[in-house]
Amino acid sequence: MKKKIVIFELFFLFILCLVLIAWNYPITISADMVPQSEESQNENLQSPDPEPVIEVVYPEDENHIVCIDAGHQQRADMGKEPIGPGATKTKAKVDGGTLGKSTGLTEYQLNLDIALKLQSELEDRGYTVVMVRTTNDVNISNSQRAQIANDANADAFVKIHADGCDDSSVHGASTICQSESNPYNGNLYESSRKLAECVLDGAVNATGCKKRQILELDSMTGINWSQVPTTIIEVGYLTNKAEEAKLATADYQQLIARGIADGIDEYFRTDE
Ligand SMILES: [Zn+2]
Repeated sequence: MKKKIVIFELFFLFILCLVLIAWNYPITISADMVPQSEESQNENLQSPDPEPVIEVVYPEDENHIVCIDAGHQQRADMGKEPIGPGATKTKAKVDGGTLGKSTGLTEYQLNLDIALKLQSELEDRGYTVVMVRTTNDVNISNSQRAQIANDANADAFVKIHADGCDDSSVHGASTICQSESNPYNGNLYESSRKLAECVLDGAVNATGCKKRQILELDSMTGINWSQVPTTIIEVGYLTNKAEEAKLATADYQQLIARGIADGIDEYFRTDE
């Protein structure tokens, strides 16, 4: 009888040991898990930290939207459209532009060449760029071009053109914006005037061409329909032989693009 009790006691102790060992395991495992969960909690706590830092690193300036219009197109559209919202006066939707007689360079091709270079330059600098056209074979009226800039909610609308006149000695660059009393968007005069100044200075500094003038005109359909700060840059005269020769080279076009981009940088730098 005693033997049975001893065996029972031994069996009980054995079971007790098993229970204690079994108890011990979860304790050991949970002890191991504590630092892990602390680590993962730390990870969770740390992961939101870089996000505010990233937001600080990218200033708003670098995400400005710039709309670029390469003036004219392969075939003019002499159909008429109002020169501004509600205007009774009309002008051709898109006229033919000027021509370099020595090189055969058309204004629409030159404008596009510079516009594409400006697009790359601005994108490299972190801007969002909206192109009115990237080929010559389009038909987009001047008011529609402004509408593209409006729809894009552009921070600046830059229209690339080249000049021409009967006097072949005339050369140099100009910019155009609306006047303060423009009936369609005179409220944008200050910002457009500043954009016109910055873009002209940038282009002149980069190319060394003659700085002609900033014109304030209220007869330009592409400006009048615009609801964002706008300037037209006339990059040079295709009717001046020396300037035409320069304008026909990719290197000079690149200088113009870089200069316009410098001007746009400057416009936003002081846009406080
Ligand atoms: Zn033009």
